Amino acid sequence: MTETPTIGIVGGGLAGSLLAILCARRGFRPVIVERDAAFDEPAATDGRSINLALAARGTEALRYAGVLADIEPLLLPMAGRRLHEGGAERFLPYGQRRDERIYSVARAGLGRRLYELARDRFGVEYRFRHECVGLTASGAQMRSPETVYELETSFLVGADGAGSAVRRALESAGAVRATEEMLDHGYRELTLAPTAEGDFALAPEALHIWPRGNFMLIALPNLERTFTATLFLPLEGRPSFASIGADVRGFFAAHFGDALPLIPALEREYNAHPVGRLGTLTCTPWSYAGRVLLIGDAAHAMVPFHGQGMNAAFEDCVDLDRLFAECGSDWPRVCAEFERRRAGNAAAIATMALENYREMRDDVRSEKFRLKAELAFELERRHAKFVPRYAMVMFHPEISYAEARRRGAVQAEILDALTRDARAFADVDFKRAAALIAERL
Ligand code: FAD
Repeated sequence: MTETPTIGIVGGGLAGSLLAILCARRGFRPVIVERDAAFDEPAATDGRSINLALAARGTEALRYAGVLADIEPLLLPMAGRRLHEGGAERFLPYGQRRDERIYSVARAGLGRRLYELARDRFGVEYRFRHECVGLTASGAQMRSPETVYELETSFLVGADGAGSAVRRALESAGAVRATEEMLDHGYRELTLAPTAEGDFALAPEALHIWPRGNFMLIALPNLERTFTATLFLPLEGRPSFASIGADVRGFFAAHFGDALPLIPALEREYNAHPVGRLGTLTCTPWSYAGRVLLIGDAAHAMVPFHGQGMNAAFEDCVDLDRLFAECGSDWPRVCAEFERRRAGNAAAIATMALENYREMRDDVRSEKFRLKAELAFELERRHAKFVPRYAMVMFHPEISYAEARRRGAVQAEILDALTRDARAFADVDFKRAAALIAERL
């Protein structure tokens, strides 16, 4: 009788728990080692984002794992961006079909629900407060509050996030090379309170943006009728986290006047939350000796401006599970194929995420941007081949990130050509549009 393979998963975060569910369904024995306290214990927030946008790649992964219905009660739909400019609001829809929405979800709630499902429905073993501190010839070295021990595994997955200890151990051994390109902008999170009647203070079915050129405030709704707002701002220069100093209220009054009254704990939260750093992590290769593999942020952390880090990590889990089905326990083949399928896609979404920062904080304010967005929807209605890039990334998991980026670049040129001399929608030459689409897409 062959033994059930033990899959050691370092990190019981979003990717770790979803992968454990998939491994258990496949008949493997997943063991999760998680540095933090158990979800049932009260834990201090570590400053990581409080809510996240879940899009179709993420929901499809949850559906594939058979747990989407369990997660749905945690989701709040967002149908578009609501821009706050000059005291007025303007709505820019994300898509034009009813199901083209993204969902706000609390990181803690999602993490806990995945853990409960993994433990109760799929019998996954979690070892909380156990930390991976190194690799061994047949697994990894773990430190618990009581002892240091070796976890022997058939296959080890590093799902331990951007600061991955598994990746660092591989770097120290000279087995992988990683670079982290840090952005010179950071972020701080704040809470928009509900109204006195206990309702949402802003329209809940949207991602709110206060675009201000070189910086922005965004807000995503929470189930308890608050919004989590995130201020993205340069670290140095003017204005910046350095230049605001103690005058947070003055800064908000000058730039986010309509949001200010909604943040009752502004100074307290601003001072209590550290400035979060953002960066793009590139690592190559993602595996070692055909038995250790990095996934999710451990392999490819990105800036959060396309809201795809978790979605990409979930897609990693699905692709890895498909490879388990194809390759069985031929782990070296699993590793090689995984990287072959995923690396180009990870690089593409990391680049698009960087590009989206400029779009959110600046481009959305221009008439030209809005004309192009409107035109892109019209071209999508008229031509099956034309799908706006945002929609390809967020609503079309069947189109890979790399393909979305490639087609998106061609479409951007088409939109540029069609709007170069157009001031309004009526000026667009749709015969030329049809010819360009037929020729280039
Ligand atoms: P993580 O979620 O970081 O999980 C890693 C786990 O490993 C943690 O539980 C950690 O405690 C554990 N761990 C770490 N080291 C060890 C160790 N040595 N031993 C054992 N355990 C360890 N993504 C989206 O899709 N949509 C969004 O809207 C979005 N918004 C974001 C906003 C911000 C401000 C930020 C910073 C990120 C955002 N992301 C978003 C990205 C998303 O948070 C990550 O891509 C996602 O959490 C990656 O999941 P993961 O499981 O790979 O890593």
